[in-house]
Amino acid sequence: MKVLVVGAGPTGLTVAVELARLGLLPRVIDRRDSASTLSRAVGITSRSLELLSKSGVSEKLIAEGIAVQAACIYLDKQLALEFPLHSDRTYFPTILGLPQDRTEALMDQVLSSMGVEVEYQKELISLSEYRDGVVAQFDTGDEDRFDLVIGADGIRSTVREAAGINFPGFDLEEEWSIADVDTDGWPPRRKFTLVKMESGLVAVAVPLGEGRHRLVASCEDAIGAFPMELDIKRVRRQGTFKVSIRQAETYSRGRVHLAGDAAHCHSPVGGRGMNLGIADAVELAARIVAGRLTGYSELRHREDKKVIDITERGRKIVTGKSLKARFEFRALIAAANSLPAVRRKLGQFVVEF
Ligand SMILES: Cc1cc2nc3c(=O)[nH]c(=O)nc-3n(C[C@H](O)[C@H](O)[C@H](O)COP(=O)(O)OP(=O)(O)OC[C@H]3O[C@@H](n4cnc5c(N)ncnc54)[C@H](O)[C@@H]3O)c2cc1C
Repeated sequence: MKVLVVGAGPTGLTVAVELARLGLLPRVIDRRDSASTLSRAVGITSRSLELLSKSGVSEKLIAEGIAVQAACIYLDKQLALEFPLHSDRTYFPTILGLPQDRTEALMDQVLSSMGVEVEYQKELISLSEYRDGVVAQFDTGDEDRFDLVIGADGIRSTVREAAGINFPGFDLEEEWSIADVDTDGWPPRRKFTLVKMESGLVAVAVPLGEGRHRLVASCEDAIGAFPMELDIKRVRRQGTFKVSIRQAETYSRGRVHLAGDAAHCHSPVGGRGMNLGIADAVELAARIVAGRLTGYSELRHREDKKVIDITERGRKIVTGKSLKARFEFRALIAAANSLPAVRRKLGQFVVEF
């Protein structure tokens, strides 16, 4: 069977690694000049590590990443709650912090060792589907026929558009921002920190490595958003981004299947975007090899929708300005502070989510 994977982000690389592990070597293309240097997703869940363990990718991720030990929640400058991030029931006991470019580089290493090289500087322009295959046209002027095409080509997916699949949802008005910084002192090492301001702004710090943090805020200045003094030695990268909450109406049409951001996107609250893409990818690859693609779309659409809905509820609680949102957030903190079992359960929920 001839399979084309469009996009060599974490989703496309995972589809390719899993297909290759199961004995099917796909063709993988990406329009970028070379591997990405962007550190977008920084939190790898235990579930993703479990899914990536069979190929040997997890071992490499765990060796380089940083195990996040606890979460701290501040209300303005005041520490309101701290709880351990830990579960005994999962493959890895906590969240692993690692910049996305390193995750991709390690996946690419494993893929390469399995005999598949990503073809960079190759862009999919269009698809024409026939009864016996799909013909993909490339910007390099050539074309090729495939049995299946996997759209792992991100939010503005060409594959999704070519297949005529709608991407309903909405876009948030505000700009969000990130900064990758070298730090000394605050924010705390090996801890996830969330600061909720009375104004409804939220700022988050995630450890990326020893003395390195990712800052994210629901406004245009990820560094200035923190009400406390940050001990920043170097700013490696800074930028703003818009958030969309969308999900493709179906993940499969004919011989074309979508996975990752091409199929869904949501806010970074909860840090699940890349992790959902990895779960789609593993499921899709297994079904391709087993020849049972029917049901892929229904299963992954349902699973991803659950996470998008929970993430949206979380976003509204942490960024909500209404009295109700503020009340819910404070009630959660009060309950967790009064009962160690609630703190433990909260940490377990975050690791298992
Ligand atoms: C600021 C920020 C912070 C984030 N933080 C987190 C986090 O902490 N945790 C988390 O899980 N997620 C996070 N995410 C989301 C995460 O980055 C994405 O969900 C993830 O990158 C999706 O992976 P993907 O492989 O599906 O798509 P992408 O990473 O977008 O990869 C798609 C690839 O397809 C290629 N491509 C596109 N069109 C074509 C074409 N026509 N032909 C050939 N190639 C093409 C692109 O060049 C790209 O390399 C964050 C996102 C942002 C923006």
